[in-house]
Amino acid sequence: MGKSTEYLKFYSKDNEEILFPLARIEGQKPGPHVVITAGIHGCEYPGIAAAIELFKTLDDNICGTVSIVTITSVAAFESRTPFVCPKDGKNPNRFFPGDKNGTYTQAQTYYLLNNIIKGADYYIDLHGGDLVEALEPFSICHSGAGEDIDRKSFEIAYYYGLPNIVKTTWDGEWPDSGTTYANASRNGVPAAIVEVGGIGQMDRPSVEKHLAGLKNVLKHVGVLEGEPVEPEVQIYSGFKWIYTPWKGIFYCQTQVGNYVEKGDLLAYIEDYFGNRVGDIISPVDGKVVFLETTPAMSENSLLFGIAYIE
Ligand SMILES: [Zn+2]
Repeated sequence: MGKSTEYLKFYSKDNEEILFPLARIEGQKPGPHVVITAGIHGCEYPGIAAAIELFKTLDDNICGTVSIVTITSVAAFESRTPFVCPKDGKNPNRFFPGDKNGTYTQAQTYYLLNNIIKGADYYIDLHGGDLVEALEPFSICHSGAGEDIDRKSFEIAYYYGLPNIVKTTWDGEWPDSGTTYANASRNGVPAAIVEVGGIGQMDRPSVEKHLAGLKNVLKHVGVLEGEPVEPEVQIYSGFKWIYTPWKGIFYCQTQVGNYVEKGDLLAYIEDYFGNRVGDIISPVDGKVVFLETTPAMSENSLLFGIAYIE
């Protein structure tokens, strides 16, 4: 019973330290074990602040245990590195289930999955738009881990209360096979990613949205007392990620949260003398749930994520 904090330490095969700041609340009453991670992408700040605030505001008058990794990618956080780990240039959310004998990121994801997530009853992974990414709040959950796990994973996404939910599969159009939530689900732990905030901002409304979502899920699973709110959501089965085939200067022609139609102009790319080298056209009818906010694009850079109904 009670609240505790510790730094869990592991080491990569090159003997580099992998640090997980772990805060834990062990309740006075029996109940489920919920694992929460924030900062897997080290510049997604509202999730980090909400995870810390949740720990500070909960006391041990809860049912079960809540384990919170407040900043999962400490190296990315401290160096303000978006998307990837500065040690090896890998995006941790593409390298689950990890490999303890692999690179730094592969070892990090291995120890996170095997030593912290596995064995939990529920897992919630807090994200948002990265340093150069604007985002409309949405959740993602995996389908394909069996009926019971899939239903519980969807319920985490649903009760978090964000207005958009994307369901993904292992070998779908946007394959989720390297992600936290899909690997947790396939190891028997219902899970979802929840995305709020963006562009390096620590804004209070986004922190509060994360906090409200966390508390509503904790009510649903019985850690906190009270009836959860039943939110209104839109469910999407398709997730189209759009990349630029050209390097150059990106001129975005839409906004995050917009509905777009197939054939709409989303953006164009100019070269360094202002010549238009190409147009980016929407391949589907759907909702722009994230877009990159930097104009600087190399070949094959990610530009947009569009959620749509297949
Ligand atoms: Zn992220």
